[in-house]
Amino acid sequence: MGILDDVVINAKSAAQTVGKMAGQFVDMSKLRINLSELNGEINRRYQELGQYIYESKKAGTTEEAELADKIAGIDDLYAQFAAVSAQLAALQNKVTCPGCGKQMDLDATFCSHCGMKLSNAEKAAEPEEANCDEAAEEPAEAPEEETKED
Ligand SMILES: [Zn+2]
Repeated sequence: MGILDDVVINAKSAAQTVGKMAGQFVDMSKLRINLSELNGEINRRYQELGQYIYESKKAGTTEEAELADKIAGIDDLYAQFAAVSAQLAALQNKVTCPGCGKQMDLDATFCSHCGMKLSNAEKAAEPEEANCDEAAEEPAEAPEEETKED
């Protein structure tokens, strides 16, 4: 599953770059357009794949190699979609969970959806200029609770 690793790395490096970057919204709108184009293309490929299967099965001319080729094309688009999606998430100070694909806050330690430890945990939010009022909030610790069974 190298794709997901790449996505995480992209998300992290994108997040690091963004801090020094002006005009983020330009990139964000470009990424959004890119995502919707990819999404449209994926849907188009599905339709094409379905049509190919329908017609070739009826005619008895289905070729596994051609099917595999079409499927690989869709996988490739999904990989691009994931990468762009992760970049967009990073621009919005979000990170894509490697476990479930949900978008979490960049400073989150664990995914609130699937509970996976997020690899950005050690990085957390970089301190920008010192905030005058710092609300030192301790991260919620698990309440000490023991399950007792009778
Ligand atoms: Zn998750």
